[in-house]
Amino acid sequence: MLLLAIAVAAFLSTFAGGLLALKLHDKLHLILGFSAGAVIGVAFFDLLPEAIEFGGRIHAPAAVLACAALGFLSYLVLDRVVSFHGDAAPRGRFAAGVLCVHSLLDGVAIGLAFQASHAVGIVVAIAVLTHDFSDGINTMNVVLKNGGDRSRAMSWLLLDAGAPVVGIAATALFRLPAEGFGMILALFGGFFLYIGASDLIPESYHAHPKLLTTVMTLVGAAVLYFVVRVVG
Ligand SMILES: [Zn+2]
Repeated sequence: MLLLAIAVAAFLSTFAGGLLALKLHDKLHLILGFSAGAVIGVAFFDLLPEAIEFGGRIHAPAAVLACAALGFLSYLVLDRVVSFHGDAAPRGRFAAGVLCVHSLLDGVAIGLAFQASHAVGIVVAIAVLTHDFSDGINTMNVVLKNGGDRSRAMSWLLLDAGAPVVGIAATALFRLPAEGFGMILALFGGFFLYIGASDLIPESYHAHPKLLTTVMTLVGAAVLYFVVRVVG
């Protein structure tokens, strides 16, 4: 029952973030700046610490971070392949797809945490619910910025908002070893650093090289630090 409520909240949080990004479309560079900081914040303050915590039970922290580097570099290679023809749309679909898989894993993380214990479950659920809002913003942004229209961005947002629900439901069916899950989180930490640093930061800044854009990126990272490390 509690898991069902969390699943609904995850959906609503993601969806609300996406709608906000759509509504503020004319201020896209500022929202992109925020997104860039938020994506990097999720990587540094949520995914990587959790990866080290879960994966560190059997792997050295250096091995977990090497897995994050593998994520970063493999995303770089895939991104080059996908955007080889110079058309932005496949790049947007690819990034949105990665965000959706990430949101699916957010749901899996909640389910697994509740399998571990009720208290751990609550902590992970708070961390996920608070950053889901930025997941929604980010999904909307990667599609819009790569030339996607509103309806396409909306379809991706619905998929992204539904993904944690599916992830939570899936954990009712299987048990995943925490160590292996740690390495998957590290991989996604690498993906997120790449999306933030190579896609969202330059995109938010090059057409609007303003102090405010930079401030928004710092704010994005700071907000994620606060919601994941202080509130969570
Ligand atoms: Zn997430």
